[in-house]
Amino acid sequence: MTVEATPVLRAGGARRRRLVALAFLAVAGFLPAAEPADDRPNIVLILADDLGYGDVGFNGSVQIPTPNLDRLAASGVVCTQAYVSSPVCSPSRAGLLTGRNQVGFGYDNNLSNPQPGFDPEFNGLPVTERTIADRLRAAGYVTGIVGKWHLGDRPQFHPLRRGFDEFWGFLGGGHSYFPSHGGAGSNGQLECSFGPVGPRGYLTDDITYQGIAFIARHRRQPFFLYLAYNAPHAPLQARDEDLSQFTHIPDVRRRTYCAMVSRLDQQVGRLLDSLQAEGVAEKTLVVFLSDNGGPVDQNASLNAPLNGQKGMLLEGGIRVPMIFSWPGHLPARKYERVVSALDLAPTFLARAGVGRKAWSGLEGVDLWTRLMGADDSAPHDSLLWRFTVSAAIREGDWKLVRLPDRLPLLFHLSDDLSEQHDVALDHLERTRAMLARLGDWDVRLPHPVCLEGAEWKRRQLNLYDATFPLRQPAPNEVPHLISDRETNAPH
Ligand code: CA
Repeated sequence: MTVEATPVLRAGGARRRRLVALAFLAVAGFLPAAEPADDRPNIVLILADDLGYGDVGFNGSVQIPTPNLDRLAASGVVCTQAYVSSPVCSPSRAGLLTGRNQVGFGYDNNLSNPQPGFDPEFNGLPVTERTIADRLRAAGYVTGIVGKWHLGDRPQFHPLRRGFDEFWGFLGGGHSYFPSHGGAGSNGQLECSFGPVGPRGYLTDDITYQGIAFIARHRRQPFFLYLAYNAPHAPLQARDEDLSQFTHIPDVRRRTYCAMVSRLDQQVGRLLDSLQAEGVAEKTLVVFLSDNGGPVDQNASLNAPLNGQKGMLLEGGIRVPMIFSWPGHLPARKYERVVSALDLAPTFLARAGVGRKAWSGLEGVDLWTRLMGADDSAPHDSLLWRFTVSAAIREGDWKLVRLPDRLPLLFHLSDDLSEQHDVALDHLERTRAMLARLGDWDVRLPHPVCLEGAEWKRRQLNLYDATFPLRQPAPNEVPHLISDRETNAPH
């Protein structure tokens, strides 16, 4: 049997030399690479900061128009029962980015100044943990973060050491929106790992600009872009042109918040348009969520119909808006079973072709067949939370919240979405059993590696005595919004 020679071997002398030379030039990088035959999707993870569950059109807001987020929602799967693993910024991001419940590695608390007795060298995402970016980079993705980090500002915690190839943004938990607004809310300098920070405008716009530039730079290779907006986190600062849309809202805090959310929506729209313009919209999985519930007392956000807010384990603190969109690959539908932000890591890795053998430590579920509608089973039997002095467990439609200063609270969510009726005493056996399962988990957890200030813990319990708006306001209506004076929130 004659073996067919390859074209190079069959080529005559001069032609063979030319082909060999071309091959050398291509290997040496002097010729443009061919379009890669990589069918793995790009992944864009868009994180809003302190966005209320009820403040987007696709979750029922009629006060804040969010046409761009609504179009993203209409193009893919909206998860109606999506939870983050913590009701505050830093631990929620630790869970999201590692795919592990962060309390399992001592990350219960929001990151703030090191507290007495705690080693500041551990004031950040433990270096023993691997991030989604670490795992996707190992799979050949180029990885970038634009925006807020908030997982430690010491060198060992820097995003470039946590799996990211590029970083444009800030390391702390908050930042002013205008370059001229230093002081309150401005937490450290902006930095850029690949050049000058560049001219500044309004920060939500700047983050979008940098995200679009990242997509343009890397459109020919699989990329992971973590677009971590700080909007609409405090400080309340909005552009005049956005405020002018909301002059009918008399409360200046709510008006400013609405303008900030509207700006965020417009900028997400710009980013989606750029995916189209770069020709990668159908090669890109876009996921949108908020890092925790809206802090009604701090930024005048609204979680209606959910009760509670950021910092609480009621639904308003931990249930967030969440969208998965990949045109041509995911259907447009609602997914109503319980999902977790911890599910993003395995869902992303599976799409990136990373086999399960490399998923060590991940605690979530690859949601794909469920998002597609091919599997109707529940992804989770239970979800568990611990946040400083509070803890909670959800099993099926039941949720139990444990606080140090009162009896456990039990809610049946399918009958009582707004958690208005504590039925613990009507279901004592269930209450005892869920409390026991929560306790069995809790006692095995390690000691926290860092603590937040005591003033935040006092405030956390005060919040459970506050009253929150439970229905959507009309366009010009201002619901009763508690203020941080009532909850003693530190500034
Ligand atoms: Ca947050």
